[in-house]
Amino acid sequence: MKSVSIFGATGSVGLSTIDLVQREPDAYRVVALTAHRDVDGLAAQAKATGAKLAVIAQDDLYGALKDALAGSGVEAAAGEAALVDAAQAGADWTMAAIVGCAGLTPTMAALKAGGTVALANKESLVSAGGLMMAAARESGATLLPVDSEHNAIFQCLAGGSIDDVSRIILTASGGPFRSRSRAEMVGITPAQAVAHPNWSMGAKISVDSATMMNKGLELIEADHLFPVGLDRIEILVHPQSVIHSMVEYRDCSTLAQLGSPDMRIPIAHALAWPDRIVTPCQKLDLATIGRLDFEAPDAERFPALRLARAAAAEGGATPAILNAANEVAVAAFLAGRIGFLDIAMIVEDVLDRYSAGRPSTIGDVLAADAQARLFAGQTMERLTV
Ligand code: NAD
Ligand code: MG
Repeated sequence: MKSVSIFGATGSVGLSTIDLVQREPDAYRVVALTAHRDVDGLAAQAKATGAKLAVIAQDDLYGALKDALAGSGVEAAAGEAALVDAAQAGADWTMAAIVGCAGLTPTMAALKAGGTVALANKESLVSAGGLMMAAARESGATLLPVDSEHNAIFQCLAGGSIDDVSRIILTASGGPFRSRSRAEMVGITPAQAVAHPNWSMGAKISVDSATMMNKGLELIEADHLFPVGLDRIEILVHPQSVIHSMVEYRDCSTLAQLGSPDMRIPIAHALAWPDRIVTPCQKLDLATIGRLDFEAPDAERFPALRLARAAAAEGGATPAILNAANEVAVAAFLAGRIGFLDIAMIVEDVLDRYSAGRPSTIGDVLAADAQARLFAGQTMERLTV
């Protein structure tokens, strides 16, 4: 039996993970589940899965969680230190599915603890990729990519040696505004931006897909996970999201991983790895799909692509600054405080005004993250007065 913990259990990836775990009660045993502030959702999940421990990130919700779990036998805990303890509670397999840099500290703790970490939380890798990869090497932890593209690349890399890779082709749906001009992007509402054509996901990543910052973050993520050199990682727009990414080898053989756009497929791969499990997902019906389309990405209309590639090339704290500014801007957009096109503008402005030295600890990363958030707040104030 594999013991599993799920960080961000109440989110889109977390729910999909629980769905798979519950289908195989003899194969998986739940250790810890965590959530930000959805006490009722977390308590219900913990009872349904027979988890040992439930952790709510907000300290002040401890009492509410304890009450909700009364008599269930599930232990309650709250706050950031409790998240770290949960990450070190000895699960064989940990799903890192908290959204944003908020996931960094618990994900690092899980990597240091050694087991297998299934990584959905791309922002942590974007902000602290070098430190995370080093922590995994040091502890012997196995880092399995859950992001569908990176999971696809991981699977395609089973077909050869990374030393023989000539190109990684990261596919992108292009999001809901793929064919819109800049002028047509003015006035896009949060409701329009979160309505992704292919995937059902949390609000933040849905907005990132609409600005294509998601693909920018994924470029940085791929650069850490698969060290073939940034200039060998290309982005290709593929609106149907059937090919989840490709790896080209030096003999010109290209391997691709395909599947329905359902996150349970890459999650199941990471959950069962190196084995495979049955999933309830839709089998790919290419005759019905009929055709697959491709186009080059357009960094003029989607400046986030340019900003992220430049941040990846610069390295150091720059990707953490890019990520933090983007998190602030996306939250402000979702709250109706800024416009859609302001998001990348704010990120660019923060990158122009603030830089930090190369981080050598997670504390350095978090300091750069905090500072970038202050800068982003200033930029927004200028915008909204
Ligand atoms: P979501 O918003 O649906 O869920 C986020 C989870 O994180 C929730 O359980 C929430 O309670 C928790 N959380 C939020 N803020 C927190 C905080 N400050 N402290 C502790 N916990 C907090 O997000 P999601 O769509 O499930 O995405 C999760 C991660 O997976 C993101 O990094 C995203 O980029 C990545 N990802 C998601 C998908 C997808 O299909 N949803 C695909 C690929 C990658
Ligand atoms: Mg992805």
